[in-house]
Amino acid sequence: MKVLKEIQALQMISDYHRATFKTIGLVPTMGFLHEGHLALLEKAKQECDIVVVSIFVNPAQFLPHEDLDKYPRDFLRDYHLCNSSGVNYIFYPEPELMYPKDYFTFVNVEDITERLEGQFRPGHFKGVSTIVNKLINIVKPHKAYFGQKDAQQAVIIQKMVEDLNIDTEVIICNTIREENGLAKSSRNVYLSEEEKQEAAVIFEALTEGKKMITDYKITDTESVKNVVSNYINRKSDKIKLQYLSITDNVKMKELGNLKLYKGDIIISLAAYMGNTRLIDNVSFNYKYQ
Ligand code: AMP
Repeated sequence: MKVLKEIQALQMISDYHRATFKTIGLVPTMGFLHEGHLALLEKAKQECDIVVVSIFVNPAQFLPHEDLDKYPRDFLRDYHLCNSSGVNYIFYPEPELMYPKDYFTFVNVEDITERLEGQFRPGHFKGVSTIVNKLINIVKPHKAYFGQKDAQQAVIIQKMVEDLNIDTEVIICNTIREENGLAKSSRNVYLSEEEKQEAAVIFEALTEGKKMITDYKITDTESVKNVVSNYINRKSDKIKLQYLSITDNVKMKELGNLKLYKGDIIISLAAYMGNTRLIDNVSFNYKYQ
């Protein structure tokens, strides 16, 4: 496994592997790896000859008041995890290399980015789509792997790749969870043990919501949302919902009555546990019957 910090070196390496008909898989991360990231690496390893992981805490996707400075970082630990996952290259650039002085170019997916996460983190997705675009130009991967944990991000990246005719297949992998259901996240280090236990309520509530739709055939999404938010409020006084939405998985538009709807449904939310902002979602296929 090699660690690369230079853009051109990696571009040349990618050209070489492409010239020898090797399949390249990219797993973009912000580091402080956990089992969610490792599942992406494993999938990439299964499907590709060469696996490149990028570890880059992308300043462009953090809002001024957010946790860029205190975002957890541990490169040595990540290095060993990548090494034992069979990663071939870690791309570990300095922020100044990715965004030099007088950096002016950003990629913005419209519409889908205005809702949900985009409403509460304006500009966040512009930073995400820009960095993913840059990483794809640097690594030139055949396939790139993302987690369903960040559902809206997954939808936006797929749209960007489609709209800009990017020659990379986007693969979305299931959310990996703690035993109690809490979605794994680098930001979970901000939580105390008790908070981690209490945060299990989030996935329980989302699962209740899904059950309302799939098992109890409730078609009024407002009622489903009430059940989900009441579940959270009843079981935890520490968790404060920021938004809760029931959308399709293409435009991520709020769905009203499900009677006429057929397709994938995403129930997603953001909630604060103290100062820590958590996001999670469940997604499933639906047809009214
Ligand atoms: P991050 O380092 O948080 O930016 O995440 C890098 C990638 O890992 C993104 O595509 C995330 O969606 C994905 N990811 C993060 N947490 C999980 C998880 N619990 N399960 C699956 N994928 C995840």
